Amino acid sequence: MEHRKPVIILLGPQGSGKGTQGKRLAQKLEIPYLESGKLLRDEIASKSELGNQFAEVINSGGHLDDDDINAFMKSKLQETLAAFGGFVLDGFPRSQGQADASDAVAMPSHVILIDIPDQESIHRLSARRECPKDGKVYNMITDPPKDDETCDDCAARLIQRVDDTPSGIQKRLDWYHNDTKPLIERYEAQGVLHRIDGTPSIDAVEQSVREIFA
Ligand SMILES: [Zn+2]
Repeated sequence: MEHRKPVIILLGPQGSGKGTQGKRLAQKLEIPYLESGKLLRDEIASKSELGNQFAEVINSGGHLDDDDINAFMKSKLQETLAAFGGFVLDGFPRSQGQADASDAVAMPSHVILIDIPDQESIHRLSARRECPKDGKVYNMITDPPKDDETCDDCAARLIQRVDDTPSGIQKRLDWYHNDTKPLIERYEAQGVLHRIDGTPSIDAVEQSVREIFA
């Protein structure tokens, strides 16, 4: 049997930089980075039977229930585990039921919580800008475009998302804390939780993440 690679779950609020860290870590450990939102979008774009079902629910203004998401994610995790022996998982699980589903495929070897204070999330996300033409996302603090507030690729004037106001961001943070608190307790009890301060620079945070695997 192949030596088992890490099975890693990422937790952290919006603006924590966990996506960037997850991609870097996956590359370092030579395992795939799985982002649940992207997996769903890809499934819908593939026009598979399941993708079409998801699209129908979403287009009619509903949202996917845990059973559908769990079945979909379990099959993706199983496939990835069989092919690569491990993964870095972002965006899933977000509830105890989802965590039961991911545990059923593989118990995580590491859960990494990249934490920043709410004020820092609000500060960072308020600086986010998006290209209205191609959807490219910039951050005026951490990842600004080359020229003023225009897209590097198409020169369109960047816009702020309508829900990126301080009150909109705070509402999403409240949901995040509500959903994530039980998961933090769960993984702490499993002895696999690692808390990382996400406030320093991207490179400094990466260094802290790497030390977990040193
Ligand atoms: Zn653009």
